[in-house]
Amino acid sequence: MTPSLYERWLVACVEAIDEPDAFATRPCPSCASPSLNLAFVVMSGDETMGIPCFWCDACLHGTFVCRALIPEGARRVPKDQRDTIPNYRVVS
Ligand SMILES: [Zn+2]
Repeated sequence: MTPSLYERWLVACVEAIDEPDAFATRPCPSCASPSLNLAFVVMSGDETMGIPCFWCDACLHGTFVCRALIPEGARRVPKDQRDTIPNYRVVS
């Protein structure tokens, strides 16, 4: 069975969280462009947790998952700078 687009985004997102250094060269699940971005929005207080935002700069599709532990080397975005993340369309 072919995974749905949503499933492919989720898999790509989980892989990006696992390997924040390696996903940049992987193809976007929607448009195949190597333009994926991952940033963790950090809420006040706990700096080790964030909301992972995962999107493609080329087609502006993406996904996000629940709060997660921020891996070493991942980009962090403070909550008040959240508008530095493009308003991408969440694949569902
Ligand atoms: Zn794309």
